[in-house]
Amino acid sequence: MSTTPAYCPVCHNAAIALWSVAKDYEYFSVPGEFSYYGCNNCKSIFIHPVPVEQLMQIYPPNYYSFVNKGRGMVVRLKEWLDKRLFKKIFRQLEGDSLNILDVGGGTGWMLDILKATDKRIVFTQSVDIDTNARTEAEAKGHAYFTGTIEQFVTDKKFHLILMLNLVEHVADPLAVLQKAEDLLMPGGIILIKTPNTDSWDARLYRRSYWGGLHCPRHWVIFSEKSFRLLLQSTGLQVQKLTYTQGAPFWAFSIIASLYRRRMVNISAKRPIIFHWLFAPLAALFALIDFIRRPFAKTSQMFIMLDKEKG
Ligand SMILES: [Zn+2]
Repeated sequence: MSTTPAYCPVCHNAAIALWSVAKDYEYFSVPGEFSYYGCNNCKSIFIHPVPVEQLMQIYPPNYYSFVNKGRGMVVRLKEWLDKRLFKKIFRQLEGDSLNILDVGGGTGWMLDILKATDKRIVFTQSVDIDTNARTEAEAKGHAYFTGTIEQFVTDKKFHLILMLNLVEHVADPLAVLQKAEDLLMPGGIILIKTPNTDSWDARLYRRSYWGGLHCPRHWVIFSEKSFRLLLQSTGLQVQKLTYTQGAPFWAFSIIASLYRRRMVNISAKRPIIFHWLFAPLAALFALIDFIRRPFAKTSQMFIMLDKEKG
């Protein structure tokens, strides 16, 4: 059971070491411990072995509804900030009609926000493994594909592809990026949001529980360095990389750490996002990260990619 991985899945370097042993403190979806390894070369952190056989258990049916219900005030503030970011992106995109793809887009709540941001959007596609999201997505006018992005087949090309908190959830992030590259219209943009291992809270909570692991659902977690390394095997390039607030990770880390000291109680029925401490902690750290974001690396990256020319 406890095999050691031979090399880093991102840079293929053999200089790896056990980084942390964690449990699902957030949803209690499965019992047992999971090992995370860190690459000394590129600073990626990855789970080993990858719990592919437990896919249905680690994303229990209530996972998605918890995610939706957890979207409180902090998230609304974030949406407002995202809207400003998207307006900037849309100014770059040329054409009278735009196609947009949201990978892991669920019911299409993000596509709704985007549709309201730019009138040129004529086609919106959600790709998600969640079978329950289809009805709502289609009722709102979005095309829906049940499955992974690697399984998704279409004649369409997209001006904007969103992969927000997605690449860290998959076994083969390179294959996902290459597929997105195939689906991207020339001049189009891929927008990625993904955790950053090279952050203050990752180091601070390594010995207890770092929320960025989202254990056992995050499989490969990048640093800026390792993400740029991965891109070298694609025809994509970074147009812009910024850090954004990682407030939920701070809140997960702190509450899990209190739980381990038996100071708070959480369970499968009442996961961390329903704990009364979650909202105030997330709000506080959203503010702290927002202030330190211009000069510090927070635990969440926003990365804009486009196709290399030539
Ligand atoms: Zn590596």
